[in-house]
Amino acid sequence: MQTIKKVVILGGGTAGWLSASLLKKVLGQAVDIELVESETIGIVGVGEATIPPIRLVNQVLGIREADFLRETKATIKLAIRFENWKKPGDMYYHTFGAPGRSMAFCNFHHLWVRAQQLGDSSSLWDYDLNYLCATHGKFAPITAKDTVLELPYAYHFDAGLYAMYLRKLSEQMGVVRTEGLVQQVMQQINGDIKSLVLSDGREVTGDLFIDCSGFAQLLIQKTLGVGYDDWTHLLPCDRAIAVPSERFEQTLPFTRSIAHSAGWQWRIPLQHRNGNGLVFSSNHYTEQQAIDLLMSNLDSKPLGDPRVIKFRTGRMRKQWQRNVIAVGLASGFLEPLESTSIHLIQSAIVRLLQLFPHNGIQPSKVAEYNRQSELEFTQIRDFLVLHYHVQQRDDSQFWRDMRNLEVPATLKQKVAIFADDGSLFRDQNDLFLESSWLQVMLGQGVMPKDYHPIANNYNREQLFDVLAGIKAIKQEPLSKFPSHDEFIQRALQIAPM
Ligand SMILES: Cc1cc2nc3c(=O)[nH]c(=O)nc-3n(C[C@H](O)[C@H](O)[C@H](O)COP(=O)(O)OP(=O)(O)OC[C@H]3O[C@@H](n4cnc5c(N)ncnc54)[C@H](O)[C@@H]3O)c2cc1C
Repeated sequence: MQTIKKVVILGGGTAGWLSASLLKKVLGQAVDIELVESETIGIVGVGEATIPPIRLVNQVLGIREADFLRETKATIKLAIRFENWKKPGDMYYHTFGAPGRSMAFCNFHHLWVRAQQLGDSSSLWDYDLNYLCATHGKFAPITAKDTVLELPYAYHFDAGLYAMYLRKLSEQMGVVRTEGLVQQVMQQINGDIKSLVLSDGREVTGDLFIDCSGFAQLLIQKTLGVGYDDWTHLLPCDRAIAVPSERFEQTLPFTRSIAHSAGWQWRIPLQHRNGNGLVFSSNHYTEQQAIDLLMSNLDSKPLGDPRVIKFRTGRMRKQWQRNVIAVGLASGFLEPLESTSIHLIQSAIVRLLQLFPHNGIQPSKVAEYNRQSELEFTQIRDFLVLHYHVQQRDDSQFWRDMRNLEVPATLKQKVAIFADDGSLFRDQNDLFLESSWLQVMLGQGVMPKDYHPIANNYNREQLFDVLAGIKAIKQEPLSKFPSHDEFIQRALQIAPM
């Protein structure tokens, strides 16, 4: 078995530079890292919304929040607002928080369901600080550990600037960048990758190759041909149109996801512009229809021409094959409904670091890596399917088709159990916590018929008092928090490090 002394990364998008910076930061001088990218090809550059674990990446890389906000023109993300998903005119929030407070044996929402049955008219989100801050346009990080007051958050940022920032950090740590177009991939007799041959004849050799070549999937698929699990039968959207537009006077700390008759539109507020896009099914809209729909639904002036991006939902059958690990778009794609792609890059690299084959590639480690990767992709896929499957839209063929698609049995069971008595179970390692499943199921229109018997331990008056107390605790910090824009402005005034 060959010792891994040199890692070659093909691709300089978010996946390439995030892989380079994390691997170098953690492995240090143990490995040399060379990243090959081609400016003539460029990057996808539309990954703009994230989920809270991105903050761990920044911590590991030693990035201060103020520097990050400045360099990537970032804003804070507390939630996604889903509009028209359950039915036209309806809206709900999927926040990173948890409504209520954590309780032993039964989740808070059982108390709320019982109160609803007793005539209470509060919304579950009234008990969620993330929701309250998002809707009031307020933000300040909560640093003290508190079981009731938590405010988990992530960022919206400019993906192109983020890749450039990570490149700067990586090069400072010693990662070598090579500009060049890979024209040929050389293999050893056993099939392992030996080197990348560039269009000017230079050859880049390595022991381990990370395929971050985006949708080109140059090493994992075009060279090693691992095969692709196509999931378009579960998630049929296969195109996106992206266009930036002018920023608003006020930036609010949440992403908007607006359902249309054959897809959905995102709107992501950044410091210098808004990111917009439409994800749609080409079986239900033509590209021109989709462009017209997006452009007529922009709420600020466009700053460029709309760009069409084609994709096929699914994943590589093996994300690690021989001496190649596919990361980012090269490993598969799930539409950006819950902003999970950059997280998948992060968790792929963490997994690789945990299983790093410094003394040579062992089949058992490769199998474990592939098992964990498949589980992660499948769990996220099922959560996305939930949004399309459980809804009450009858206004277009797309939504009728989506409701009638065959869905995974595990998802069906999860929805059925929740609808019955509000029970929620988080599968091992599922990225989405119970509070996420709860918010999306309720938001999409599943109201439990019953609740856990522990909620009967309170009489009506006690129950309403408990709820009112939690609501007051959650609302209390709002008056002290600055607006989201004030928070960003204060952070930008901190001198760069
Ligand atoms: C419509 C859409 C919306 C998205 N929204 C989000 C979101 O909100 N949140 C989120 O987390 N993620 C989102 N993503 C995903 C996110 O954009 C990607 O995960 C992220 O940008 C990583 O892309 P990448 O680095 O894998 O590929 P790319 O950015 O495509 O980079 C590929 C790299 O490979 C190089 N390359 C390819 N072929 C060669 C060659 N022959 N020689 C040399 N170099 C080569 C290119 O030069 C480039 O540097 C979205 C994706 C799409 C398509």
